[in-house]
Amino acid sequence: MITAQPRHLRRRYDVVVVGGGPAGLEAAVAAQNAGAAQVLVVDREPEAGGILLQCIHTGFGLHRFGAELTGPEYAQRLVAQAQGVDIVADACVLDVDEQRRVKLMTTASGIATVDAGAVVLAMGARERTRAAARIPGTRPAGIFTAGLAQRLVNLYGLMPGRRAAILGSGDIGLIMARRLVLEGVEVAGVFELMPHANGLNRNIVQCLHDFAIPLYLSTTVVEIHGHERLEKVTVAPVDSTLQPQLAQAWEIPCDTLLLSIGLIPENELSGQLRLRIDPATRGPVVASTMECSRDGVFACGNVVHIHDLVDFVSAEAMLAGTCAGRFATAAPAPADNVRLLPGENVRYCVPHTISTEREQTVYLRTLRPLESCELRLVEAEGNVLYTKRLRYVFPAEMVTLKLRPAILQKFHGGTLRVELVPRAFPGQGDAAEPGFPLPAPDKRPGGEP
Ligand SMILES: Cc1cc2nc3c(=O)[nH]c(=O)nc-3n(C[C@H](O)[C@H](O)[C@H](O)COP(=O)(O)OP(=O)(O)OC[C@H]3O[C@@H](n4cnc5c(N)ncnc54)[C@H](O)[C@@H]3O)c2cc1C
Repeated sequence: MITAQPRHLRRRYDVVVVGGGPAGLEAAVAAQNAGAAQVLVVDREPEAGGILLQCIHTGFGLHRFGAELTGPEYAQRLVAQAQGVDIVADACVLDVDEQRRVKLMTTASGIATVDAGAVVLAMGARERTRAAARIPGTRPAGIFTAGLAQRLVNLYGLMPGRRAAILGSGDIGLIMARRLVLEGVEVAGVFELMPHANGLNRNIVQCLHDFAIPLYLSTTVVEIHGHERLEKVTVAPVDSTLQPQLAQAWEIPCDTLLLSIGLIPENELSGQLRLRIDPATRGPVVASTMECSRDGVFACGNVVHIHDLVDFVSAEAMLAGTCAGRFATAAPAPADNVRLLPGENVRYCVPHTISTEREQTVYLRTLRPLESCELRLVEAEGNVLYTKRLRYVFPAEMVTLKLRPAILQKFHGGTLRVELVPRAFPGQGDAAEPGFPLPAPDKRPGGEP
C-alpha cells in the first residue's frame, strides 16, 4: 500500500492526528469534511493502516462499506479517501503540550514541531506481555504475543515454531490458532483463565471449532520450561477465585507459546497531557464529542477503549474528527448535561458524558456473560428512565446503544447509571449464566473437566 508523503511539513495545521490506523485516517477525513483545511496524520510505521495491515483474514467492513474486506483492503479504502490530508509515515509523535504543539521525529528530517488547532489522539493499543501475566519459569526463546506472531507470519513470512500452545482466548489468539494450523503448526490448545471465552463467538466457531482446536476454560499456564528454546509449559485448572489447582496440573510439550491476554490503550501521550483517564478502560475520559479533559484534544479508537470491530472504530473516529474539525474552525461546541456511570454488571461506558439534546451512541461492556437481560438507564433517585431487552451479552462483545433525544426528553440532566440486569423467569431463578451455546469442548487429560 502506498502512502503519499508531503514534501514539507507546515508550521501549523488545523488538525493534527496522532496515529494513522483506521481511527486516525477516518478522523482526518471527517475533520477535513467539517471544514479543517490543513490536516496532518502522523504514524510511526512505514505505512498508514495500523493493525489492519497485518490482519489478512476477512471480516472487516460489513457495516462501514457493506462488504467483507481483509484488513489491508479496509485500510486501503481509508487511505484512498484521505486525498488532501498530509500523511507522514515513519514519524513518531514524542510530545503534545498544553498549547497543542506537537513534537515529532521523522526519519526523513529529524525533530520537528507543528502547531495544531485541534489534536486527535488515535494511537491504538499494545499487547500485554509475559511480564503482565507474571508466569513463573525460565526465560527461553519461543514466547510471543499473538499480535507479534501474526506480524511475523503475515507480513514477514516467518514461522514462530512447530508446536504451539496459546494462553488467553482474545480474538488475536483465536485468529492466530487458525492461522498457525493453516501454516502446518500443531496447536495443542487455547488456555483461558476465565470461565468464559474472551473473543468473539464467531472467532471461537470459525477459528477453533472448525479446526478442532481445543479450548480449555478456567485453565492457565503455571510454569514455562526450557533454556535456549521453550520445551514445554505446565498448565493447571483454576478454582472460582482463579487460584491454580497444582495437584491437577499437566504438561504440554511445545516450542511456542502465544500470549493473547489483552490489549492496553497506548496512552503515554495522554499521560504527558495529563488527561483524565478512566481506570476501567485505561483510556481518556471523553465527552459525547470525543473531546478529552483538555480543550481541543480529541481521542478515538483503541486508545479510548478496546474495540472488537473496526466498523465501530470508524464510526467513533468520524465523530471525533468532525468535532475536532469544528473546534479548529471555531464552530461553537455543543455541551453535555448528563454524566454516565457504569452500574450493575457494566464494566464501563463510553462516552462518559452525553447531552439530552442530540442523538448519541453509547458503547459499553458487561462484566460477565448474561443471557436474557435488560439494559437500564437509571436516575440517581432510582427511577428507571429507559429499558431495552437484550438476548445475551458477553464480555468480549461490545454493546452499542443508540440514544435518541426522545428517550431522554423527560430527563433534564445530572447522573444516569447504566445497568445490565438479568431477567428472571418463573421457575428459573436468576437468569444469568445459564446454558450458552458456547464455549467449546473442554477436554483435559483424565476426562475430568
Ligand atoms: C489481530 C486482530 C484481529 C482483528 N480482527 C478484526 C476483524 O476481523 N474485524 C474487525 O472489524 N475488527 C478486527 N480487529 C479490530 C480492529 O482491527 C481494531 O479495533 C482497529 O484496528 C483499531 O484501530 P486504531 O486506529 O484505534 O488502532 P491501530 O490500528 O492500532 O492504529 C494505531 C496507529 O497509531 C500509531 N501510533 C501509535 N503511537 C504513535 C505515536 N506516538 N506516533 C505516531 N504513530 C503512533 C501506530 O503505529 C498505529 O499505526 C482486529 C484486531 C486485531 C488486533
